[in-house]
Amino acid sequence: MLQYYFIRKSTNQPFYTTGYQQTNNFEYMIRILLCISFMFCFVGVQAQKNEPPYILVLGVAQDGGYPHLGCTRACCTMAWKDESMRRYVVSLALVDPVSKNWWLFEATPDIKYQLHYFQTLTKGLYNFLPDGIFITHAHIGHYTGLMDLGKEVMSTHDVPVYVLPKLKKYLETNGPWSQLVNLRNIQLVEMEECGFDEREDAIPLGDGIRVLAYRVPHRDEYSETAGFRIETKQKKYLFIPDINKWDKWDANIIDVVKSVDIALLDATFFDSTDLPGRNLASVPHPLVRETMGLFKNESKETKSKIHLIHFNHTNPILWDEKKQKFVEQAGFNFAKQGERL
Ligand SMILES: [Zn+2]
Ligand SMILES: [Zn+2]
Ligand SMILES: [Zn+2]
Repeated sequence: MLQYYFIRKSTNQPFYTTGYQQTNNFEYMIRILLCISFMFCFVGVQAQKNEPPYILVLGVAQDGGYPHLGCTRACCTMAWKDESMRRYVVSLALVDPVSKNWWLFEATPDIKYQLHYFQTLTKGLYNFLPDGIFITHAHIGHYTGLMDLGKEVMSTHDVPVYVLPKLKKYLETNGPWSQLVNLRNIQLVEMEECGFDEREDAIPLGDGIRVLAYRVPHRDEYSETAGFRIETKQKKYLFIPDINKWDKWDANIIDVVKSVDIALLDATFFDSTDLPGRNLASVPHPLVRETMGLFKNESKETKSKIHLIHFNHTNPILWDEKKQKFVEQAGFNFAKQGERL
């Protein structure tokens, strides 16, 4: 009653008016809103704490990117005109929302765009520089982005770069890469080639996350070529952006795909019409039609694990919706820039 009296006095309103109720309702609403926002924050933080690691696709094109230098054919003309069609060179980010660490796969010539792209996709929640960079081989689309870590650009400190032994030696003994090593812009970490039965050669990245390197056949002018197997507690990924024909590998690709959840596989060329006037045997890759043929009789589940990637500018998967549908209707996937796997 005292309270009522006080309210009545202070607001100078009759006893029965809504002044008191209005004040009380207002306070009540504020409290409810505060509670709701607190709950949302709490749920958000909890969700992030429980969020499993994932892969982000930062680029899907072959080493020359899309569009391609000097290409005036239909494939690239549309991408020169329409910026939204352009695609970065093949690259992935492995992201751990719990430790807030992330790792880059391949240092491409598009690295400066891709690191910004990563920031945009992850809303600035992670460090700008990755906690490590894994590189498959010394072809220009896969390692030359390292140059932006040197003193002419970012002048980084000891960024771990994971490579197989021959690539390590190549980077240590050839400029400008040797300068990055000598100035400790990067710190090379030698990976061991991993067999199919052994698991001890993995690079541990914390809380059940690890990366293994398979050796795969490719045109190894300066280094050997790795294919990576990325394991988290929840999912296993295979990343082979460059390889000669599947039957040139000691491993059976069908068995390896079955042993993972998601396989990002070399799809440089769609078929033999990709490079008219050029001998495809001089740049051997599994053609998309060959890969699809190889898995034709496998289960729907196995086919759906395959995400084609590393598209040459002439590969119609980049620009032809009919070909994209053809691939998807047959049960396969093609990697999309920006997607989360
Ligand atoms: Zn490549
Ligand atoms: Zn082109
Ligand atoms: Zn290559």
